[in-house]
Amino acid sequence: MMDFRILLAAASFGLAGCAPLEPSNPPRPADTLTTIDRMADSGPSPTFEAEKMFPSWFAAIEPYRVIGDQDDGVYYVGTKGLGMYFIPTDEGHIVIDGGMPGQGAYVADAIRKLGYDPKDIKILLNSHAHLDHSGGLAELKRLSGAQMIASEGDRSALEGGFYLGSENVKSLNAPPIEVNVTFSDDFTVTHGGVSLTARITPGHTRGCTSWMMDVEQGGKTYQTLFFCSASVAANRLLGPPQYEGIVEDYRKTFAITKDWKPDVFLSNHPEFFGMATKHERLKAGDPLAFVDDGGFPAFIAKMEKNFEAALQKQTLKHNAIMSE
Ligand SMILES: [Zn+2]
Repeated sequence: MMDFRILLAAASFGLAGCAPLEPSNPPRPADTLTTIDRMADSGPSPTFEAEKMFPSWFAAIEPYRVIGDQDDGVYYVGTKGLGMYFIPTDEGHIVIDGGMPGQGAYVADAIRKLGYDPKDIKILLNSHAHLDHSGGLAELKRLSGAQMIASEGDRSALEGGFYLGSENVKSLNAPPIEVNVTFSDDFTVTHGGVSLTARITPGHTRGCTSWMMDVEQGGKTYQTLFFCSASVAANRLLGPPQYEGIVEDYRKTFAITKDWKPDVFLSNHPEFFGMATKHERLKAGDPLAFVDDGGFPAFIAKMEKNFEAALQKQTLKHNAIMSE
């Protein structure tokens, strides 16, 4: 029997309110998104060599608590360049994302360093079915026997171990993982006193999932967002698109997220939310270093601009090829 309850949340998942005041973060350098967007130019080449292109994805850092009280809250168990998260509970633990293929062991080690047993992971969640975030999940599942809960839109890619729409690009494959429970939208996973609600923010993948969770620290509640992504990266937007409806999906995501103003903005690529600076502030003694309700709105506005620019660029290129 499953020892967690899965509840369909009310459609109205509120995002406003309870934002503690905090001086806004210094603006991120203009080039913080370029490592990811670099893929947009090259596309998913058959010789995608992640270690050469993105060495930070493979650089180890010490795991740490991002926000929450002792033995509670959200812990970072990722690498320098890939965000993976650990949420402990008395009834077994939750992990969001597994990093690159082979990094399941890295995540398990990070969890051990925090004083927990990775065998006690009960639930695995995924932001989206791309190898840099789903690659380590199968290994974590083998090690723990945890249930994999994922969006219906990303299920085929997770179970098939491929990049949807680039099934022939073997270097983008990930170890296949069986999905035990699927959902569509506004879906809440409740386990060990923790509730995480899934919002489908499609485009980057068909079932791209942003997770939301309320985290208590020092008697206050902080709305925490684990944002999926909205970058174009290696995605073809047309001619033929990565998947049918991708352009509409991106625009849907920008519309859905217009009013989102989470207290704590996290994601699977640490540069999205300026982790390095915030982590330094945390280490220097600021327990609310990650509270930054201006971070996400600024980020998503930039993502939307980047998307429209990428669409224009891909359209021009497509038209040029068609008229040859
Ligand atoms: Zn991705």
